[in-house]
Amino acid sequence: DAFLQIQNLEISFDGDRIIAGLNFAIHKNTLTTFLGPSGSGKTTVLRAIAGLNQKLNGRILLDGKEIQKLPVNKRKIGMIFQSYALFPNLTVFENVAYGLKARKKSNSEIHDSVEKMISLVGLDDKINAYPNNLSGGQKQRVAIARAMVLKPKLLLLDEPLSALDAKTRVELRNQIRHYQQQLGITMLFVTHDQTEAMAISDNVIVMDHGILQQQGSPAAIYAHPANNFMANFIGSHNVLDGKDLLRLGFNTIKNQNINPKALYVIRPELFSFDQKIENALEISGKIKSISVLGDRISCEFQTEKGLLLRFERLNKNSSFSIGKLAKLYLRDSDIVKVG
Ligand code: ADP
Ligand code: MG
Repeated sequence: DAFLQIQNLEISFDGDRIIAGLNFAIHKNTLTTFLGPSGSGKTTVLRAIAGLNQKLNGRILLDGKEIQKLPVNKRKIGMIFQSYALFPNLTVFENVAYGLKARKKSNSEIHDSVEKMISLVGLDDKINAYPNNLSGGQKQRVAIARAMVLKPKLLLLDEPLSALDAKTRVELRNQIRHYQQQLGITMLFVTHDQTEAMAISDNVIVMDHGILQQQGSPAAIYAHPANNFMANFIGSHNVLDGKDLLRLGFNTIKNQNINPKALYVIRPELFSFDQKIENALEISGKIKSISVLGDRISCEFQTEKGLLLRFERLNKNSSFSIGKLAKLYLRDSDIVKVG
């Protein structure tokens, strides 16, 4: 029951193949994030789905129908941009009402729907304000209300939070997730921020260089990176080869022989620090650097054999210091083979 299907999508600019044979599907009433570094082709794919000026090969199906040849206004797709794109000369009410007016809805219907939507995004007291008198977060909430009031089949959001400060970003991402679940909207949310993607998605699609690297739930993607790019992109620490694991003293992983040439990942939070745990390998070494991340402390650890590992622990008592000799403990079952 795929709701949006992208089949063999190819897009080129000036002879440069930017998207080369992309395939994915997303389900109704879910929030999927499209995650990838800058330049990986996220906006290009979003614009193709929305129908904004692109030549493409392949098929785009929405709710079972091919839409790749339909004009923008026939697709029933909403889009939200980083830059808000509000009408500066219209009030909050008029901005949100704009699309309904264009569709010749009755005045009473417009009033009802617009007021309800403005209330949902928490802007009742700003209903007659102009965009210039709103904060960035409030402007983006107007843009979200304006898109949602049209009840699109699919809502595309292109890095909608990138221009906001860190606190507003976290608040608004949680609110977007809340609207999505409360109203039952299918959303495709673009971001280059993996924390943001992990926090709000049912499903994550990771892109690099126009190629889909992995698709899955946030937990699955974190636990089982599909390839080298994914291992380094998500989490990005302790990507080791089998030879390094053998040097650390591991012989097998989950009763399987270690392949010296394969890649493995150890997530920093899975080490136990100076506290022996059962069935774990003891790794001696010393602390090389300490960064306090707020709720957590992240340390580089140099093993006796000269390997550099990163471990994290909760920021409770910080009774350790750089240069301190220490021991890490790790179970082989906490090591993940890449791929
Ligand atoms: P992202 O949104 O992931 O940052 P984009 O989709 O904007 O990536 O861009 C992907 C690639 O396509 C980049 O290399 C970019 O330079 C190129 N590109 C995007 N739009 C155009 C265009 N209109 N003309 C030429 N090249 C483009
Ligand atoms: Mg982009």
